Amino acid sequence: YTSEAYNIQRDPKFAEVTADDVAFFKSLLGSESAVVDGVTADATDDIEPFNSDWMRKYRGHTRLVLKPQSTEEVSKVLKYCNERKLAVVPQGGNTGLVGGSVPVFDEIVVNTSRMNQIRSFDQASGVLVADAGVILETADSYLAERGHLFPLDLGAKGSCHIGGNVSTNAGGLRLLRYGSLHGTVLGLEAVLPDGTIVDSLSTLRKNNTGYDLKQLFIGSEGTIGLVTAVSILCPPRPRAVNVAYFGLESFEHVQKAYLEAKNQLSEILSAFELMDGRSQGLVHTSTGNKYPLEGEYPFYCLIETSGSNAEHDMAKLEAFLEHVMGEGIVADGVLAQDETQFQALWRWREGITESLSHLGGTYKYDVSIPLAELYQLVEDCNSRLTEMGFVGDDDSFPVRAVVGYGHMGDSNLHLNVSVRQYNKEVEKAIEPWVYEWIQKRNGSISAEHGLGIAKRQYIGYSQNETMVNLMKQLKGLYDPNGIMNPYKYI
Ligand code: FAD
Repeated sequence: YTSEAYNIQRDPKFAEVTADDVAFFKSLLGSESAVVDGVTADATDDIEPFNSDWMRKYRGHTRLVLKPQSTEEVSKVLKYCNERKLAVVPQGGNTGLVGGSVPVFDEIVVNTSRMNQIRSFDQASGVLVADAGVILETADSYLAERGHLFPLDLGAKGSCHIGGNVSTNAGGLRLLRYGSLHGTVLGLEAVLPDGTIVDSLSTLRKNNTGYDLKQLFIGSEGTIGLVTAVSILCPPRPRAVNVAYFGLESFEHVQKAYLEAKNQLSEILSAFELMDGRSQGLVHTSTGNKYPLEGEYPFYCLIETSGSNAEHDMAKLEAFLEHVMGEGIVADGVLAQDETQFQALWRWREGITESLSHLGGTYKYDVSIPLAELYQLVEDCNSRLTEMGFVGDDDSFPVRAVVGYGHMGDSNLHLNVSVRQYNKEVEKAIEPWVYEWIQKRNGSISAEHGLGIAKRQYIGYSQNETMVNLMKQLKGLYDPNGIMNPYKYI
């Protein structure tokens, strides 16, 4: 998708990058590797990864990528851009799934990959302070060596940055246990477009001194400022972690299993993930791995427990398994016996996004819906597209599969429509139908991925006019020239 697909015009108020601008940035940032210059030099291949998102679905036309190394450099970059009215797209690991991290036209990409230092860690409180460009997995490995855990985990952990995580308010696999970043992030450092450094890098858990302004940056997708550092509360790393993988006959059974897991596993339950049969079929085909269970089922779920006492946790888990299997809630199941099996079972859940990406295009809908109707959306979407003649096995049908999976414990479903190629007719059949469906159930059209460019027109399905107007006022206050991530949702 490029700007033409969205019918957006480049805003003429923004200046175009000149050779003088490039010279300024080169002298400011010093190092060769800090500037990818496609303005005065031919950097076509080098610049391409910054213009294209993880799914290779959205494509921009930047000709300049800047990689500042410190908050002061970010401040000088943004101040200059603001004065020159040069539009900017903040970019972390570029793993976002709504096209928010790539430019639409020629906006300058400000990438955080060189801001990658851990600033401090306090063993007693578990508070980590780190630069925005630290890769999530790197932060977690650093914490693992110190007996702690990053309170967020997701399939893109090897590439995404913690600044990107905060800016998208990423949810991930263990929100059920550790809560949202709105709770675990204790402080932030950010730079406003006029260069002001917002130093709110508190490490306190309690701080009731006026508006909690850091919350505005959490989930605002780079539209009001650039996050340069994060202070976050990290729990002790659980000493005992177990994973069970189940096959179930219906979504009613999944709901029952979830209720039982909450009641019986209570404080040690750290993840409850849902995968439908089609999603597991895709992982099976793309990896060639043998299914974890003998039979095939319409639904699967993955349950993780984390605690401090292996014996106690195992006793609880075994009692739970006996119960759900004895009652016929779960048809079949397997418990990881060692670390290798633990990782292998998780891959059946974490590998879905990647498996889908090998098939062609994917229309992705990351939504919150009341639990009872969570999977109904997948059924209804599948029926709709089948009735319209879009779904089928051979190449003449544009839709390959309609797949559902997600974070059941958070009422968060990922509806994915896998297509052989992106197809306007299919898109029109899904949108805005899918958003209307969600609005009728008072759900959210974006549970954890954000709005980016993909859902820019649809915010009204989940936010009323007053809320959208308040957001616009805040945007105007923080970014009066509108240079931060323009053309996206606000
Ligand atoms: P980017 O993609 O670079 O940017 C995302 C947005 O944040 C953009 O709008 C960008 O402008 C803005 N931004 C980035 N850095 C900054 C900054 N420092 N300051 C201001 N704005 C900034 N997401 C989930 O929530 N849960 C999941 O379980 C999950 N699983 C995923 C699995 C896979 C395989 C993949 C590819 C993605 C998954 N995602 C998931 C989506 C994605 O990984 C998250 O949204 C992640 O938080 C994005 O981080 P990033 O560093 O890649 O940000």
